[in-house]
Amino acid sequence: GGCLAMTAPASGSGHIRLCSAKIPRDAAVANTCKIPLGAVVEPFSRHLEQGVKRISVPSAAHVARCSNCFALASPFCDLRRGPTNQIAGWRCALCGTLNAPPATKEHENVLLGQTEAGGGCAELRFPPMSETGSGSVSRTLVLVVDSTLDADQLDLLRPGLVGFLRDALRDDLAPTSVALVTYGSSVRFHRLAIQTGGPVSESDAFPARLQSRRNSARADRLLAAGRSRWFARVAPDANGRARLVEGLERALLSVNPYEADGGAAAHERPRCMVGAIALACRAAALPGDWSRGKGPSLASVLVVGGGWCTAGPGAVPGLSDADRQLRELESAREVEAIAEEIGGAGSCIVDILGCGHVPLDVTGLYPLTQNTGGCLLTYEAVGDSLWRGMRETWARTVGVGAVADFRVGGGVRVDRICGPVVPWPAAARPPIGSAAGGLTDNAVGLTSCERGVGVCLSLRMLENVSRDSCFLQGEFYYADLGGERRLRV
Ligand SMILES: [Zn+2]
Repeated sequence: GGCLAMTAPASGSGHIRLCSAKIPRDAAVANTCKIPLGAVVEPFSRHLEQGVKRISVPSAAHVARCSNCFALASPFCDLRRGPTNQIAGWRCALCGTLNAPPATKEHENVLLGQTEAGGGCAELRFPPMSETGSGSVSRTLVLVVDSTLDADQLDLLRPGLVGFLRDALRDDLAPTSVALVTYGSSVRFHRLAIQTGGPVSESDAFPARLQSRRNSARADRLLAAGRSRWFARVAPDANGRARLVEGLERALLSVNPYEADGGAAAHERPRCMVGAIALACRAAALPGDWSRGKGPSLASVLVVGGGWCTAGPGAVPGLSDADRQLRELESAREVEAIAEEIGGAGSCIVDILGCGHVPLDVTGLYPLTQNTGGCLLTYEAVGDSLWRGMRETWARTVGVGAVADFRVGGGVRVDRICGPVVPWPAAARPPIGSAAGGLTDNAVGLTSCERGVGVCLSLRMLENVSRDSCFLQGEFYYADLGGERRLRV
């Protein structure tokens, strides 16, 4: 037995990084040498973005795929040249099948276009999902803000949130609708678009308990009824956008710093972060006419502040151990249910940015962010690094509806895929011949499609590797925020 060297980008700094530069020649060696076989795949790597070769293709029929294993042609395939140096055929790097030459120039581009310098990565771009343009992604920004912070913290937070929204609205990929939700011992949805002519801002309050599964039908009814008031559509013109920013400022000014009981210490105030997230996600994900267009929708729920992770208000755990344990159990169940609900929909990303010197239940809240493709960050001060974190969090999304698929050369198979993934039901698979066509059993859905996020594969040797090299191909099919369909290979 011996080892095979992996091909260039594998062990380097490409989009696919193997944990070992060599793979065993046979299963017997693999089982004795104890080196884990696996790979980290980061399709939207920030620092490799420049090297990605972009190729426009009119349709899926213009993509050169292997007639046997359906792998995409790549620069790692051997080309057969004819007498006039034309391509006379190509041998699939994964299964070794000799394929007919590409039918058109576009096919040839796909075959030759990926470069090893760019980590062997190419992005095929297909026309938008709809010719009318209504296929573009409607993106909702929901700001969820802790209203129990001290007055001086709220004073710092307000201009930062206003500045963040002003920047987001100036961006090319501005949200299509915006909402503000604040939480203390109740959850409050604000009416950003309503012009009262004065400093008064209106909002509707709900008990945080409404989020529990027992109350879900009632919550859906109430949220559906009020949603058009809370989700302000972003106007196409600068004046309309400026009014929306003013609406946010007015709403934030109307948030009173914590006042109940006179002066409970910051860490003892009831703040139902989980209840607020659950209700905000529910409201954002419910289907309805408030969201523009018929294309896919994506909600980004950005939570700022603190909070324990409990099933409802009264966020501070009781003093007795029994009460504490009961609450922990209750909250673990609740978070699991919410994460499943949100993650399954695949259209709601929850990011939590802890700040304001208040407690944050990191272990309890982590699944909520992780399972939706979001992140959990904490900041010591309400200031520049928090604003930077918010901007980066908002800007890192590149698309929606991503499906990842992996093909490996003979003798090796994908054992497990870890990361922000959801099972991809066989019934939802597109037919062979569509742009994402011919998905393998390895195909998974990605809950988020963003810069710097990757998945981890563990590989297993099944039999001997018959050839002197072994290839792994990753395919990521998604719609960018402009509604263009893309296939990253
Ligand atoms: Zn093949």
